[in-house]
Amino acid sequence: MKILVINAGSSSLKYQLFDMDNESIIAKGLCERIGIDGHLKHTPMVDGKPVFDEDMSFPTHSEAIAAVLDKLVSAEYGVVSSMEEIGAVGHRVLHGGMKFTASQLVTEEVKEAIRACFPLGPLHNPANLMGIEACEKAMPGVPQIAVFDTAFHQTMPASSYMYAIPYKYYEENQVRRYGFHGTSHRYVSAEAIRVMGLEAEGSKIITCHLGNGSSLAAVKDGKCFDTSMGLTPLEGVPMGTRSGDLDPAVVEFITNLEGCTVSETLTMLNKKSGVLAVSGVSSDFRDLDNAVAEGNERAKLALDMFNYNVKKYIGSYAAAMGGVDGIVFTAGVGENSASVREACLEGLEYMGVKLDKEANNCRGKLQKISAEDSKVQVYVIPTNEELVIARDAKEIVEA
Ligand code: AMP
Repeated sequence: MKILVINAGSSSLKYQLFDMDNESIIAKGLCERIGIDGHLKHTPMVDGKPVFDEDMSFPTHSEAIAAVLDKLVSAEYGVVSSMEEIGAVGHRVLHGGMKFTASQLVTEEVKEAIRACFPLGPLHNPANLMGIEACEKAMPGVPQIAVFDTAFHQTMPASSYMYAIPYKYYEENQVRRYGFHGTSHRYVSAEAIRVMGLEAEGSKIITCHLGNGSSLAAVKDGKCFDTSMGLTPLEGVPMGTRSGDLDPAVVEFITNLEGCTVSETLTMLNKKSGVLAVSGVSSDFRDLDNAVAEGNERAKLALDMFNYNVKKYIGSYAAAMGGVDGIVFTAGVGENSASVREACLEGLEYMGVKLDKEANNCRGKLQKISAEDSKVQVYVIPTNEELVIARDAKEIVEA
């Protein structure tokens, strides 16, 4: 069975087509500048097919999806002979609110629930729904599956997800911690349990998804017990451009100071903060490493703050779970930056974490990086959210 995986953003759409017989990617690509002008890069992953990389007109997501499907079946760039070969489409959806604890076959009711979560994910959920509806239009009859970033975290106990604010905001407006990157935390925690030879029951894993957006999760008995992102992805550790945790009074202070709106202040906290703001250099950790090498003190401070906050969450989650068997690093920074991993774990020897510095000198592959005599095992595990989405879609259509 072939499964198409779609990750629709407000003006972009990423896709991968999987052959689920061997879980290989047979084509992937990116539509950009949807609603502005439009560009498609389509890369067939089979021998002899050229890459398509050209401007195209994409007034809406519908035209973008139509162009992708056209390329997937075209004689020159195609990888399938007809659309009938595509058994299902899996969609990444940011926010599933409290309704969804697992991936769902898209129905009118599911679409309504995604719509109901627009206020919780105002940038992503409308785009995710546009992606779903564009596929429904272009591929009638093909099952569409929604895979929610929030679903894995729905097992958190109330003491982890509640905010200490008047209860009516939870009861009437569902204001609470949801958490994100759930597909990634689910995949790498399950992989950790597998490679460590543990039973899910009784296991205690801390997963560190460190990329442009970063979040950590405490995974107890194979289920999410706590996570660092909140109602929105703004909470938690400092990120590429997001502030992470701060005193909420900062919002009023800066809003008054700038004479701007709360919404403008939140845009600043989402898009112009984090390591970008502290360093004044970049949101990209490779640029920060280069700046530190040239003696840039603010770039060093930005990295120190990031590493310190990750360590703080690791410590708090070990305390919350009553110990930890394994720590996992994943995503762009977690998979590639040996120096970040080392700094995040430095000083945790007291709780049984002993790094193997040589093993830690690895990038982008599954690797145990703790010493043989380390009580806590530490792993780098590359995440693969698209594969999880494809597997969920396959499971649901075959059920
Ligand atoms: P992601 O959001 O998971 O795609 O991660 C993207 C981020 O990974 C980029 O912004 C980079 O900061 C970071 N990254 C990628 N490669 C490296 C590397 N070799 N060293 C440090 N950071 C890296």
